[in-house]
Amino acid sequence: MSTVLQQIEINQIEKESYIVKNRSTGKFVKIGERETDYLKFLTSTEYSNDSAISYTGELNSEQQQYLFDKYTEWGFLSNNTAESSGNQTRRHKFKTMFNSDITTIKLATVNPEKFLNSNIKIIKLLFSPLVMLIGLLIMLTSGWMVFNPEVVDVILEYKLNTSVVILLYILIILTICIHELAHAVTCKYFGGRVEKLGVMLFYFNPAMYCDISDVYLFKHKWKKIAVAFSGIFTQWMLSALAIQCYSFLNFFFSYNQPLLLYYALVNFGVGLFNLIPFVKLDGYWILTYVLNITNLRGKSFNYLLSFLKFNPLYRKQYSGKEKAAFLIYGTLSVVYTILLWFTALFSIYKLVNKYSPIAGLTVSLALGSILGLNFIFTMQKQWKSIE
Ligand SMILES: [Zn+2]
Repeated sequence: MSTVLQQIEINQIEKESYIVKNRSTGKFVKIGERETDYLKFLTSTEYSNDSAISYTGELNSEQQQYLFDKYTEWGFLSNNTAESSGNQTRRHKFKTMFNSDITTIKLATVNPEKFLNSNIKIIKLLFSPLVMLIGLLIMLTSGWMVFNPEVVDVILEYKLNTSVVILLYILIILTICIHELAHAVTCKYFGGRVEKLGVMLFYFNPAMYCDISDVYLFKHKWKKIAVAFSGIFTQWMLSALAIQCYSFLNFFFSYNQPLLLYYALVNFGVGLFNLIPFVKLDGYWILTYVLNITNLRGKSFNYLLSFLKFNPLYRKQYSGKEKAAFLIYGTLSVVYTILLWFTALFSIYKLVNKYSPIAGLTVSLALGSILGLNFIFTMQKQWKSIE
Protein backbone atom coordinates (compact mmCIF):
# COMPACT_ATOMS: atom_id res chain seq x y z
CA MET A 1 0.00 0.00 0.00
CA SER A 2 1.36 3.38 -0.91
CA THR A 3 -0.06 6.82 -0.23
CA VAL A 4 1.38 9.74 -2.13
CA LEU A 5 0.89 13.20 -0.67
CA GLN A 6 2.35 16.30 -2.22
CA GLN A 7 5.81 16.22 -0.62
CA ILE A 8 5.91 12.77 0.92
CA GLU A 9 5.21 9.17 -0.02
CA ILE A 10 4.00 6.71 2.62
CA ASN A 11 4.59 2.99 2.09
CA GLN A 12 3.53 0.21 4.42
CA ILE A 13 6.33 -2.34 4.73
CA GLU A 14 5.28 -4.52 7.65
CA LYS A 15 2.12 -4.97 9.68
CA GLU A 16 2.61 -1.90 11.82
CA SER A 17 5.52 -0.11 10.23
CA TYR A 18 5.73 2.40 7.44
CA ILE A 19 8.45 4.03 5.39
CA VAL A 20 7.99 7.70 4.63
CA LYS A 21 9.94 9.15 1.73
CA ASN A 22 10.60 12.87 1.42
CA ARG A 23 10.20 13.32 -2.32
CA SER A 24 12.37 16.42 -2.58
CA THR A 25 15.35 15.20 -0.54
CA GLY A 26 14.98 11.47 -1.31
CA LYS A 27 15.46 10.64 2.40
CA PHE A 28 13.57 7.83 4.14
CA VAL A 29 12.25 7.47 7.69
CA LYS A 30 10.66 4.38 9.25
CA ILE A 31 7.71 5.08 11.57
CA GLY A 32 4.91 3.18 13.30
CA GLU A 33 1.16 3.09 12.79
CA ARG A 34 0.17 5.87 15.22
CA GLU A 35 2.92 8.16 13.94
CA THR A 36 1.78 7.54 10.36
CA ASP A 37 -1.83 8.33 11.23
CA TYR A 38 -0.74 11.58 12.82
CA LEU A 39 1.38 12.46 9.79
CA LYS A 40 -1.57 11.79 7.48
CA PHE A 41 -3.69 14.01 9.68
CA LEU A 42 -1.13 16.86 9.59
CA THR A 43 -0.78 16.68 5.81
CA SER A 44 -4.49 16.27 5.07
CA THR A 45 -6.14 19.01 3.02
CA GLU A 46 -8.95 19.47 5.58
CA TYR A 47 -6.36 20.21 8.25
CA SER A 48 -4.30 22.62 6.14
CA ASN A 49 -7.44 24.50 5.04
CA ASP A 50 -8.82 24.79 8.54
CA SER A 51 -6.32 24.21 11.34
CA ALA A 52 -9.15 24.41 13.91
CA ILE A 53 -9.91 20.75 13.06
CA SER A 54 -8.45 18.73 15.90
CA TYR A 55 -6.66 15.39 15.99
CA THR A 56 -8.64 12.48 17.43
CA GLY A 57 -5.98 9.75 17.57
CA GLU A 58 -4.21 8.06 20.50
CA LEU A 59 -1.23 10.42 20.89
CA ASN A 60 -1.14 12.89 23.79
CA SER A 61 -0.29 16.54 23.25
CA GLU A 62 3.35 16.10 24.26
CA GLN A 63 3.84 13.28 21.75
CA GLN A 64 2.04 15.32 19.10
CA GLN A 65 4.36 18.29 19.66
CA TYR A 66 7.43 16.03 19.50
CA LEU A 67 6.31 14.46 16.23
CA PHE A 68 5.29 17.82 14.78
CA ASP A 69 8.85 19.11 15.41
CA LYS A 70 10.40 15.97 13.93
CA TYR A 71 8.21 16.05 10.82
CA THR A 72 9.05 19.71 10.32
CA GLU A 73 12.77 18.93 10.69
CA TRP A 74 12.52 16.15 8.08
CA GLY A 75 10.67 18.48 5.68
CA PHE A 76 7.49 16.37 5.66
CA LEU A 77 5.20 19.32 6.39
CA SER A 78 6.59 21.96 4.08
CA ASN A 79 6.56 22.17 0.30
CA ASN A 80 10.12 22.66 -0.92
CA THR A 81 12.27 25.65 0.04
CA ALA A 82 11.72 27.25 -3.38
CA GLU A 83 9.31 29.78 -1.91
CA SER A 84 11.82 31.15 0.58
CA SER A 85 13.68 34.32 -0.26
CA GLY A 86 17.12 34.23 -1.91
CA ASN A 87 18.85 35.37 1.24
CA GLN A 88 17.39 32.58 3.31
CA THR A 89 18.23 30.01 0.65
CA ARG A 90 21.83 31.11 0.57
CA ARG A 91 22.13 30.92 4.33
CA HIS A 92 20.55 27.49 4.20
CA LYS A 93 23.08 26.35 1.59
CA PHE A 94 25.96 27.75 3.65
CA LYS A 95 24.73 25.89 6.71
CA THR A 96 24.25 22.69 4.74
CA MET A 97 27.79 22.89 3.43
CA PHE A 98 29.17 22.93 6.96
CA ASN A 99 26.72 20.45 8.36
CA SER A 100 27.08 17.92 5.57
CA ASP A 101 29.52 15.06 5.63
CA ILE A 102 32.68 16.13 3.80
CA THR A 103 34.02 12.57 3.83
CA THR A 104 31.66 11.99 0.90
CA ILE A 105 31.65 14.80 -1.67
CA LYS A 106 29.50 14.18 -4.73
CA LEU A 107 31.01 15.46 -7.97
CA ALA A 108 28.80 14.43 -10.91
CA THR A 109 25.51 12.56 -11.24
CA VAL A 110 23.49 10.97 -14.03
CA ASN A 111 19.98 9.50 -13.97
CA PRO A 112 20.14 5.87 -15.23
CA GLU A 113 16.40 5.21 -14.82
CA LYS A 114 15.58 5.50 -18.54
CA PHE A 115 18.53 3.35 -19.59
CA LEU A 116 17.56 0.63 -17.08
CA ASN A 117 13.91 0.64 -18.10
CA SER A 118 14.74 0.25 -21.78
CA ASN A 119 17.01 -2.72 -21.00
CA ILE A 120 14.68 -4.49 -18.61
CA LYS A 121 14.63 -7.67 -20.78
CA ILE A 122 18.40 -8.04 -20.59
CA ILE A 123 18.25 -7.39 -16.84
CA LYS A 124 15.68 -10.17 -16.40
CA LEU A 125 17.86 -12.50 -18.47
CA LEU A 126 20.87 -11.80 -16.22
CA PHE A 127 18.87 -12.97 -13.22
CA SER A 128 17.57 -16.12 -14.90
CA PRO A 129 18.51 -19.38 -13.09
CA LEU A 130 20.67 -20.59 -16.01
CA VAL A 131 22.81 -17.43 -16.18
CA MET A 132 23.13 -17.47 -12.38
CA LEU A 133 24.22 -21.13 -12.43
CA ILE A 134 26.84 -20.48 -15.14
CA GLY A 135 28.15 -17.52 -13.13
CA LEU A 136 28.41 -19.59 -9.99
CA LEU A 137 30.30 -22.35 -11.84
CA ILE A 138 32.77 -19.82 -13.30
CA MET A 139 33.38 -18.46 -9.80
CA LEU A 140 33.86 -21.88 -8.20
CA THR A 141 36.23 -23.17 -10.87
CA SER A 142 38.33 -19.98 -10.77
CA GLY A 143 38.49 -20.16 -6.99
CA TRP A 144 39.79 -23.70 -7.41
CA MET A 145 42.45 -22.60 -9.94
CA VAL A 146 43.87 -20.00 -7.56
CA PHE A 147 45.08 -22.76 -5.24
CA ASN A 148 47.43 -23.97 -7.97
CA PRO A 149 51.04 -23.23 -6.77
CA GLU A 150 52.07 -22.31 -10.34
CA VAL A 151 49.49 -19.53 -10.40
CA VAL A 152 50.73 -18.18 -7.06
CA ASP A 153 54.32 -18.17 -8.43
CA VAL A 154 53.23 -16.19 -11.50
CA ILE A 155 51.73 -13.50 -9.27
CA LEU A 156 54.70 -13.37 -6.89
CA GLU A 157 57.26 -13.12 -9.69
CA TYR A 158 55.38 -10.49 -11.63
CA LYS A 159 57.27 -7.18 -11.85
CA LEU A 160 55.13 -4.07 -11.81
CA ASN A 161 56.24 -1.11 -13.94
CA THR A 162 54.59 2.29 -14.48
CA SER A 163 52.64 1.35 -17.60
CA VAL A 164 51.30 -1.80 -15.93
CA VAL A 165 50.23 0.22 -12.87
CA ILE A 166 48.40 2.73 -15.11
CA LEU A 167 46.70 -0.08 -17.03
CA LEU A 168 45.68 -1.75 -13.78
CA TYR A 169 44.29 1.55 -12.48
CA ILE A 170 42.18 2.00 -15.62
CA LEU A 171 40.91 -1.58 -15.34
CA ILE A 172 39.94 -1.06 -11.70
CA ILE A 173 38.08 2.20 -12.53
CA LEU A 174 36.14 0.40 -15.29
CA THR A 175 35.41 -2.43 -12.85
CA ILE A 176 34.06 0.03 -10.27
CA CYS A 177 31.74 1.50 -12.93
CA ILE A 178 30.42 -2.01 -13.58
CA HIS A 179 30.15 -2.56 -9.81
CA GLU A 180 27.87 0.50 -9.44
CA LEU A 181 25.84 -0.50 -12.45
CA ALA A 182 25.31 -3.90 -10.81
CA HIS A 183 23.68 -2.18 -7.79
CA ALA A 184 21.44 -0.21 -10.14
CA VAL A 185 20.52 -3.28 -12.19
CA THR A 186 19.72 -5.41 -9.11
CA CYS A 187 17.67 -2.62 -7.55
CA LYS A 188 15.73 -2.27 -10.82
CA TYR A 189 15.24 -6.04 -11.08
CA PHE A 190 13.53 -6.08 -7.67
CA GLY A 191 11.29 -3.17 -8.65
CA GLY A 192 13.13 -0.15 -7.23
CA ARG A 193 13.89 3.14 -8.94
CA VAL A 194 17.47 4.29 -9.44
CA GLU A 195 17.67 7.99 -10.12
CA LYS A 196 21.26 8.82 -9.21
CA LEU A 197 24.52 7.27 -10.35
CA GLY A 198 27.69 9.29 -10.11
CA VAL A 199 31.24 10.10 -9.11
CA MET A 200 32.26 11.26 -5.63
CA LEU A 201 35.24 11.77 -3.36
CA PHE A 202 35.17 9.27 -0.51
CA TYR A 203 37.72 10.29 2.13
CA PHE A 204 39.26 12.34 -0.71
CA ASN A 205 39.66 9.27 -2.92
CA PRO A 206 37.77 9.17 -6.24
CA ALA A 207 34.91 6.65 -6.07
CA MET A 208 31.58 5.91 -7.72
CA TYR A 209 28.21 5.82 -6.03
CA CYS A 210 24.70 4.68 -6.82
CA ASP A 211 21.61 5.93 -5.00
CA ILE A 212 19.68 2.77 -4.26
CA SER A 213 17.67 4.24 -1.38
CA ASP A 214 14.52 2.64 -2.82
CA VAL A 215 15.67 -0.63 -1.20
CA TYR A 216 14.08 0.67 2.01
CA LEU A 217 10.76 0.01 0.32
CA PHE A 218 11.58 -3.67 -0.26
CA LYS A 219 9.66 -5.90 2.07
CA HIS A 220 12.12 -8.80 2.00
CA LYS A 221 15.40 -8.49 3.83
CA TRP A 222 17.23 -10.78 1.37
CA LYS A 223 16.39 -8.47 -1.54
CA LYS A 224 17.99 -5.53 0.26
CA ILE A 225 21.06 -7.64 1.00
CA ALA A 226 21.19 -8.82 -2.62
CA VAL A 227 21.21 -5.22 -3.90
CA ALA A 228 23.97 -4.23 -1.47
CA PHE A 229 26.09 -7.28 -2.27
CA SER A 230 25.56 -7.25 -6.06
CA GLY A 231 28.44 -4.79 -6.65
CA ILE A 232 31.05 -6.90 -4.89
CA PHE A 233 29.61 -10.08 -6.42
CA THR A 234 30.01 -8.63 -9.93
CA GLN A 235 33.51 -7.45 -9.12
CA TRP A 236 34.49 -10.93 -7.98
CA MET A 237 32.85 -12.33 -11.08
CA LEU A 238 35.18 -10.17 -13.19
CA SER A 239 38.13 -11.49 -11.18
CA ALA A 240 36.96 -15.03 -11.91
CA LEU A 241 36.63 -14.25 -15.64
CA ALA A 242 40.19 -12.83 -15.68
CA ILE A 243 41.49 -16.07 -14.15
CA GLN A 244 39.54 -18.13 -16.71
CA CYS A 245 40.95 -15.96 -19.49
CA TYR A 246 44.49 -16.47 -18.19
CA SER A 247 44.10 -20.26 -18.10
CA PHE A 248 42.47 -20.37 -21.52
CA LEU A 249 45.25 -18.36 -23.19
CA ASN A 250 47.91 -20.35 -21.33
CA PHE A 251 46.44 -23.76 -22.15
CA PHE A 252 45.53 -23.30 -25.81
CA PHE A 253 48.07 -20.72 -27.03
CA SER A 254 50.84 -21.04 -24.42
CA TYR A 255 50.46 -17.30 -24.02
CA ASN A 256 51.26 -16.09 -20.52
CA GLN A 257 49.67 -12.81 -19.39
CA PRO A 258 50.22 -12.38 -15.62
CA LEU A 259 48.43 -9.00 -15.64
CA LEU A 260 45.16 -10.94 -15.79
CA LEU A 261 46.00 -12.75 -12.55
CA TYR A 262 47.26 -9.57 -10.94
CA TYR A 263 44.06 -7.76 -11.85
CA ALA A 264 42.02 -10.66 -10.41
CA LEU A 265 43.91 -10.41 -7.12
CA VAL A 266 43.72 -6.60 -6.75
CA ASN A 267 40.07 -6.64 -7.72
CA PHE A 268 39.32 -9.32 -5.14
CA GLY A 269 41.07 -7.16 -2.52
CA VAL A 270 39.03 -4.07 -3.46
CA GLY A 271 35.89 -6.16 -2.98
CA LEU A 272 37.04 -7.32 0.45
CA PHE A 273 37.78 -3.72 1.51
CA ASN A 274 34.26 -2.82 0.42
CA LEU A 275 32.87 -5.47 2.76
CA ILE A 276 34.39 -3.86 5.88
CA PRO A 277 31.29 -2.36 7.58
CA PHE A 278 32.93 0.36 9.69
CA VAL A 279 32.53 3.09 7.07
CA LYS A 280 29.49 3.56 4.85
CA LEU A 281 30.48 1.20 2.05
CA ASP A 282 28.58 -1.90 0.88
CA GLY A 283 29.50 -3.96 3.95
CA TYR A 284 27.83 -1.33 6.17
CA TRP A 285 24.53 -1.52 4.31
CA ILE A 286 24.61 -5.33 4.36
CA LEU A 287 25.16 -5.24 8.14
CA THR A 288 22.30 -2.78 8.74
CA TYR A 289 19.93 -5.01 6.74
CA VAL A 290 21.09 -8.16 8.54
CA LEU A 291 20.67 -6.51 11.97
CA ASN A 292 17.50 -4.71 10.83
CA ILE A 293 18.71 -1.43 12.38
CA THR A 294 18.41 1.76 10.34
CA ASN A 295 21.05 4.49 10.78
CA LEU A 296 23.29 2.07 12.71
CA ARG A 297 26.31 4.38 12.50
CA GLY A 298 24.55 7.51 13.79
CA LYS A 299 22.75 5.63 16.54
CA SER A 300 25.96 3.89 17.66
CA PHE A 301 27.80 7.20 17.94
CA ASN A 302 24.88 8.70 19.88
CA TYR A 303 24.88 5.67 22.15
CA LEU A 304 28.57 6.12 22.95
CA LEU A 305 28.12 9.89 23.41
CA SER A 306 25.27 9.28 25.86
CA PHE A 307 27.85 7.83 28.30
CA LEU A 308 29.91 11.04 28.06
CA LYS A 309 26.74 13.05 28.57
CA PHE A 310 25.78 10.90 31.62
CA ASN A 311 22.40 10.25 30.07
CA PRO A 312 21.26 6.70 30.96
CA LEU A 313 17.68 7.67 30.08
CA TYR A 314 18.64 7.96 26.40
CA ARG A 315 19.85 4.36 26.41
CA LYS A 316 16.62 3.01 27.92
CA GLN A 317 14.76 3.29 24.60
CA TYR A 318 16.84 0.50 23.05
CA SER A 319 16.64 -3.27 23.44
CA GLY A 320 19.52 -5.42 24.74
CA LYS A 321 20.37 -6.58 21.23
CA GLU A 322 20.46 -3.01 19.93
CA LYS A 323 22.63 -1.83 22.83
CA ALA A 324 25.16 -4.61 22.19
CA ALA A 325 25.21 -3.78 18.47
CA PHE A 326 25.74 -0.05 19.15
CA LEU A 327 28.53 -0.69 21.65
CA ILE A 328 30.49 -3.12 19.47
CA TYR A 329 29.84 -1.37 16.18
CA GLY A 330 30.39 2.13 17.60
CA THR A 331 33.73 1.32 19.22
CA LEU A 332 35.18 -0.55 16.24
CA SER A 333 33.87 2.10 13.88
CA VAL A 334 35.50 4.98 15.75
CA VAL A 335 38.88 3.20 15.72
CA TYR A 336 38.61 2.18 12.06
CA THR A 337 37.45 5.61 10.86
CA ILE A 338 40.31 7.40 12.61
CA LEU A 339 42.80 4.93 11.11
CA LEU A 340 41.27 5.50 7.68
CA TRP A 341 41.55 9.28 8.04
CA PHE A 342 45.20 9.01 8.96
CA THR A 343 45.94 6.59 6.13
CA ALA A 344 44.22 8.86 3.60
CA LEU A 345 46.04 11.96 4.88
CA PHE A 346 49.37 10.17 5.02
CA SER A 347 49.08 8.86 1.45
CA ILE A 348 48.23 12.37 0.20
CA TYR A 349 51.20 13.72 2.17
CA LYS A 350 53.53 11.11 0.65
CA LEU A 351 52.24 11.82 -2.87
CA VAL A 352 52.61 15.62 -2.70
CA ASN A 353 55.82 15.45 -0.68
CA LYS A 354 57.59 13.90 -3.69
CA TYR A 355 57.17 17.20 -5.54
CA SER A 356 57.43 19.69 -2.68
CA PRO A 357 57.85 18.96 1.06
CA ILE A 358 56.25 22.29 2.09
CA ALA A 359 53.23 21.72 -0.15
CA GLY A 360 52.96 18.16 1.18
CA LEU A 361 52.76 19.38 4.76
CA THR A 362 50.42 22.30 3.92
CA VAL A 363 47.98 20.19 1.91
CA SER A 364 47.78 17.38 4.47
CA LEU A 365 47.45 19.83 7.41
CA ALA A 366 44.72 21.76 5.57
CA LEU A 367 42.78 18.59 4.76
CA GLY A 368 43.37 17.40 8.32
CA SER A 369 41.87 20.61 9.73
CA ILE A 370 38.85 20.35 7.41
CA LEU A 371 38.31 16.77 8.60
CA GLY A 372 38.77 17.91 12.21
CA LEU A 373 36.25 20.76 11.87
CA ASN A 374 33.82 18.46 10.12
CA PHE A 375 34.21 16.01 13.00
CA ILE A 376 33.52 18.74 15.59
CA PHE A 377 30.41 19.93 13.70
CA THR A 378 29.10 16.38 13.37
CA MET A 379 29.71 15.61 17.05
CA GLN A 380 28.05 18.87 18.09
CA LYS A 381 24.97 17.94 16.08
CA GLN A 382 24.94 14.39 17.52
CA TRP A 383 25.48 15.78 21.04
CA LYS A 384 22.46 18.07 20.72
CA SER A 385 20.29 15.24 19.39
CA ILE A 386 20.70 13.21 22.61
CA GLU A 387 17.85 14.41 24.80
ZN1 LIG B 1 28.91 -0.96 -4.00
